[in-house]
Amino acid sequence: MRILISADMEGATGVTCTADVVPGTEQWQRFRRLLTGDVNACATGLLSAGATDVLVNEAHSAQRNILIEDLDPRARLLTGRHKPLSMMQGIDTRVDGVVFLGYHTGAGADGVLAHTYLENAITEVRLDGVPASEGRLNAALAAEHGVPVIMVTGDDLTCAEAAGYAPRAATAAVKECVSRYAAICAPPQTTADLIRTAAARAMATAGRGHGDAAAHVIEVDFDATHLAHAAAVVPTVDLSATRTVRFTAESMTEAMKAFKVVTAIAAAAMDGIYG
Ligand SMILES: [Zn+2]
Repeated sequence: MRILISADMEGATGVTCTADVVPGTEQWQRFRRLLTGDVNACATGLLSAGATDVLVNEAHSAQRNILIEDLDPRARLLTGRHKPLSMMQGIDTRVDGVVFLGYHTGAGADGVLAHTYLENAITEVRLDGVPASEGRLNAALAAEHGVPVIMVTGDDLTCAEAAGYAPRAATAAVKECVSRYAAICAPPQTTADLIRTAAARAMATAGRGHGDAAAHVIEVDFDATHLAHAAAVVPTVDLSATRTVRFTAESMTEAMKAFKVVTAIAAAAMDGIYG
């Protein structure tokens, strides 16, 4: 049983503010340890319940957050950036289940450090008309490979949202959202128990299904017009409203590649504090 863990950081134990997740800061150095602890608790639970291979794919920022020296020696780590499938690199038809660890709610939603890819320039993303978090987008990509999302960890709102795209997934809420920058957090010893138990439970839903590629429509709302105009330069991407772009792709894999280009070109068009 091969399990992929896609490890983001905003939903890790104790994380509540910008400095906690910005590489290079003192706080980030602290929370890398806690993120690694969440990953280890998850791997322990998965391996105790039948997983035979655990690949951890770094999914946050520059994708170099987890401390490999502290990682469970039974896991493997995909670290570093410039991966075609980004947060979901490692997904293929041989994987039996994927875990979204340290995830968060989407742009425009309530939740600790809520966003979708860009921290604040994107105000909403819709997948086939439905507001989409990174979790919902990545779940659609997993489904295309026939891979179930077996577990989600993050704040309580992230876990509640997961019911909408992965109703059978086990969840572990490591904190209770109070505001975008505040949460009631359980300490690491407590969250490790929660995560390990949920991961063991999650293995009951692991197992490949039949994946089907289908066309998808993605719309992205930006907080300023020039970002939408910049994104609309990408072939197949059209300006559909003043601050919105829209594109269709023949599969979720292609849609996520296009989305990655849209976010990269919009990020490059941002200008100082005016964004
Ligand atoms: Zn994220």
